[in-house]
Amino acid sequence: MAWQGFDGRAFLTQAEHQTYLRRPPVRFARRGKSGDGSVCEVCGLPSTEDNPTQVSHLIPFMVGVQVYGFTPDYLDTDANLKWAHRTTCNKSLELSSEEIESLVAQLRVQEDVDGPSETL
Ligand SMILES: [Zn+2]
Repeated sequence: MAWQGFDGRAFLTQAEHQTYLRRPPVRFARRGKSGDGSVCEVCGLPSTEDNPTQVSHLIPFMVGVQVYGFTPDYLDTDANLKWAHRTTCNKSLELSSEEIESLVAQLRVQEDVDGPSETL
């Protein structure tokens, strides 16, 4: 089946969400992220051999899709990705569930989609 995308939507429809609960989506984090990762966006220090930077999700990918019903497209865009050192910085970047829920609430106002969060 051809890739159809999500029309720039942040949230999955209920049908899409059901599909992804059965078969988790493939992640393409690097595709959506700008920059070369030479500097960590959390602490501002350069990438090193001991502790290289990697593309990290603010909202963890699988949690974002399966719990909150985000589209993989949204989770793999600049809005949700930062370059962060693999140790320490990577973990401190992750949003807490309270932070994710408040972001979800904000985004839902902007995007009137009948998404899976209504069934939670
Ligand atoms: Zn860092």
